[in-house]
Amino acid sequence: MRPDLTITALRVTRFRTVTRKIKDSDGHDHPCDPREMVMALLSVETDAGVTGEVLCPPAPVRDELIAAYIRPVLLGQNPFDRERLWQAMARWQRGSAQQLSDKTIGYVDQALWDLAGKATGLPVWRLIGGARDRVPAYGSTMCGDDIPGGLATPDDYGRFAQALVAKGYTAIKLHTWMPPVPGAPSVRMDLAACTAVREATGPDVALMLDANHWYSRTEALTLGRGIEAVDYLWYEEPMEEASMSSYRWLADQLAIPVIGPESAPGKHFTRAEWAASGACDILRTGVNDVGGITPAIKCVHLAQSFNIEIEVHGGGAGNIALVGGTGAGRYYERGLLHPHLDHDEVPPHLIANVDPMDATGYVTMPTAPGLGEAINHDYIADNQV
Ligand code: MG
Repeated sequence: MRPDLTITALRVTRFRTVTRKIKDSDGHDHPCDPREMVMALLSVETDAGVTGEVLCPPAPVRDELIAAYIRPVLLGQNPFDRERLWQAMARWQRGSAQQLSDKTIGYVDQALWDLAGKATGLPVWRLIGGARDRVPAYGSTMCGDDIPGGLATPDDYGRFAQALVAKGYTAIKLHTWMPPVPGAPSVRMDLAACTAVREATGPDVALMLDANHWYSRTEALTLGRGIEAVDYLWYEEPMEEASMSSYRWLADQLAIPVIGPESAPGKHFTRAEWAASGACDILRTGVNDVGGITPAIKCVHLAQSFNIEIEVHGGGAGNIALVGGTGAGRYYERGLLHPHLDHDEVPPHLIANVDPMDATGYVTMPTAPGLGEAINHDYIADNQV
């Protein structure tokens, strides 16, 4: 391997693919009939012929952002200098008047990690640190809905939880009803679903709740006390995360661990503030939340330094690499799951999914160099937009 690769080009390929998910008016995913959607493949090319790649939505890698902020930082540089390049991108954010988002630099960072893995012949989780080669997964449900046989009632959640346990899951996280579902949000309905799932699974399955994100303090406290009583493992984002003092108020009064922040901006800096101020009992990071793998590793290290557990938000190749490479988290989040969807169905732009789970509920780290995503380049070439 040459130590002196040079980045020669950045390319964004937009392509049509098929999805079975659709967003409601508040941005929550629900199942639907197969429909066309556009995705993007970001490629970082080098003079050695090694290319780093990441799959992403088209918006964060649109042409004007790549041209204005990313090419000037990356072209001509050594792709192994991930820390230096990440810091250069992060500093551009202020000068860009926040047009350059954490999402954009996060996808570029993941492509650089993929490149480093491919250049060295190592999977990224080994490059990061090789903390573990497999991890138990939790099944993360979609938000509640009003779909017959879906996630419309507490009993629906109970039946679906039993089906997930039968597949091998040892832990399940509920996302309950949120607007625009009629009657949502409702602390009473959330508690009914959480209780139904506990009754359906028995005492040995770990359960977590991620409810409506805009409850008041008193609503959040009532719901937290309710799920404490049915032995839930953690309590996630019941309030607007911009109010850190609300979370400190909540965590001070509950025995159940409060986890966060997930959606709050501010990268590892925000996570440090939450850890230092006692606003959470378990910290949260995610490669698509904090600006990539590089800052997500910083979050893991700061959590370890405070003896605080940290859980990784969301699935996908980058998050698997983080979970395997650092050992962060009791679980890997596998989702979003719904009774009407087969999570293991392989979309046409992939040859295989990156996170297959065995019958004991474990996901094994990928062995291919880089992020381990089995991309179907022929399909992408044939379906370019
Ligand atoms: Mg969440």
